[in-house]
Amino acid sequence: MSSFLIVAIDGGAASGKSSTSRALSERFNFLHVDTGSYYRAITAEFLRRGLRIDQINEVKAALPSLAFGTQIDGRTARMQIGGRVVPESEIRGPEVTAAVSYFAAIPEVRTALLTYQRGQIDVAQAHGFHGLIMEGRDIGSVIFPTADLRFFLHADPVARAKRRELEGRADAVAERDRLDTSRTTAPLKIPEGATDIDSTFLNLEQVVEKIAAAIAQKLR
Ligand code: C5P
Repeated sequence: MSSFLIVAIDGGAASGKSSTSRALSERFNFLHVDTGSYYRAITAEFLRRGLRIDQINEVKAALPSLAFGTQIDGRTARMQIGGRVVPESEIRGPEVTAAVSYFAAIPEVRTALLTYQRGQIDVAQAHGFHGLIMEGRDIGSVIFPTADLRFFLHADPVARAKRRELEGRADAVAERDRLDTSRTTAPLKIPEGATDIDSTFLNLEQVVEKIAAAIAQKLR
């Protein structure tokens, strides 16, 4: 029994992490942190500054000037860069989606985000949330390896590409997974000891119920 729960949800692109995490955050009054949106916000900022994916040294030099902050929007944490939240329309756009996995593979970029992501516990507690639900690629393996609960969401790549298509979003799901899985630092993988959920033939509600049952058990 623990009074503040940390739940880690990892998985590939379009595996249903965000919808699942959002629903759970509402049900249990947890702060929802979508770390993919953080990598996207940084990417948008790099692109805004005219940096390209191959300008590794310039990217590293830009990191100290990013000045991260957090804005709470309902039960969702949004990253601020220099006091500004990068709009959703920008971070979900095709330019950011095509570049994000390259910037995310730079070890110094990941280090810059690591402390910030761990600090979201303090943000959640300061705002009276009962827990933190953080989704990404390396949450259960690197950011919170000792989280109370760790899940990995799987779904067939064709089903995932279809989800994005139905949302009307250009996204090379398989290519992003390839880049995220093959990078040296904090690659996408099933964390040891995490619960693996294959959502190919489950709907959102069924995935949510599976995880909700595990959370309820921990809270009991
Ligand atoms: O979750 P989403 O698909 O929005 O993430 C965008 C990209 O951010 C991923 O493809 C990956 O390159 C990067 N990312 C990451 N580590 C995380 C979350 C996202 O490298 N914890």
